[in-house]
Amino acid sequence: MILQSYDELLHSRHRLSLMLFLFLNTATSLFFLCSNEKSMPLALTLPTVIIAAIGPVILLWMILKPSGKFPILNMAALITGLLWTWQIVLKYSLVFYFDGSFLVISLVGVFFISTITLGDHLLAFCLHTGPASLAILLLDHGQHTLLILFTIALPLFGFTLHHLMQRRGDRFTRRLMHQLYVEKETYSDLSMLDPLTGLYNRRGLKNRLEGILENHAGSHYVLLLDIDHFKAYNDNYGHAMGDQALARVSVAIRDAVRSRDIVTRFGGEEFLVLLTNVNESIAMKLSDRIRQYVLDLKIPHRFNEQVATHVTLSAGFAPLFENDFDGALANADRALYLAKNRGRNTILSYEDIGRSALSQPADALQ
Ligand code: GH3
Ligand code: MG
Ligand code: MG
Repeated sequence: MILQSYDELLHSRHRLSLMLFLFLNTATSLFFLCSNEKSMPLALTLPTVIIAAIGPVILLWMILKPSGKFPILNMAALITGLLWTWQIVLKYSLVFYFDGSFLVISLVGVFFISTITLGDHLLAFCLHTGPASLAILLLDHGQHTLLILFTIALPLFGFTLHHLMQRRGDRFTRRLMHQLYVEKETYSDLSMLDPLTGLYNRRGLKNRLEGILENHAGSHYVLLLDIDHFKAYNDNYGHAMGDQALARVSVAIRDAVRSRDIVTRFGGEEFLVLLTNVNESIAMKLSDRIRQYVLDLKIPHRFNEQVATHVTLSAGFAPLFENDFDGALANADRALYLAKNRGRNTILSYEDIGRSALSQPADALQ
């Protein structure tokens, strides 16, 4: 995106250069065509008429199609360069016997247009000035060789240096842009991760969820997990130990499920796992494996003076129907609530609750 806007900037610079180049060429040729001075015989020549005609046509086309690509700067530079050379040769045959400085002045004129408009485009600069320089050197027959060579070499040297410096600057800018892009991606990735556990946070879940719901039609389950009596754990062992326990439980959850499942730290000591492409029995197996892995950590949890046990968690899961994530989450939360009520370290399926509600009197579930 950043690189793209930089390319757009270069493109618009290229476009403006071309427009200015065409404008100056048209203005110069119109000046010749409209001039009545006696010192300018043969003003109405075919090359000036062509330049005066094609310049406005291309300019108009560029104005009418501002979004079009214009890779024609080099071509335009070469064609106008050849036309000016033609004009110089035509005029020189008429003025050479009374105007000794005509060639040098013509050369300066061609260089003048190139310098103003093609400063950033070395190749176009050479294509525009090359034919006229060569023709003038030949026509001059060695009378002003040093002056002509100096007139050619000085700007050419300056532009070559300028061009090299600009290419260096351009490379540097591109590198910087690339670095910025990489850093932006890194920060964007980091902003989706929870710093304590390294799991996705809610933003990360949202991001992954969008991709999964868009691309994979399948049967997914939302599994909500909550560490049991964690407030008491913090109270007994302190917040730092609580953080350590959270980190270890996170690793156990991640280890228990498959790599394609999305594990999220959903809140303080709550986790959400999006189990992708599973049915109810696999969802139950994976959930129970998490419960077992966490229990196997054997993190001591002296719940109170009388009861000492290990850190456990409870969970509820529900199917995700028709991309209704919020609905599935609410159902999983209901199942989790009931799992907590059943004495903790328990997993409950929302569909299971529905089935038992059908087979039991309603107050048995309260
Ligand atoms: P229940 O079994 O009903 O879930 O009881 P609980 O004590 O786990 O639930 P409760 O919501 O009352 O307490 C959650 C506790 O989790 C309270 C809070 O101090 C702790 N907790 C939340 N986030 C963090 C954390 O980042 N680090 C630590 N150390 N503790 C946290
Ligand atoms: Mg909780
Ligand atoms: Mg809890």
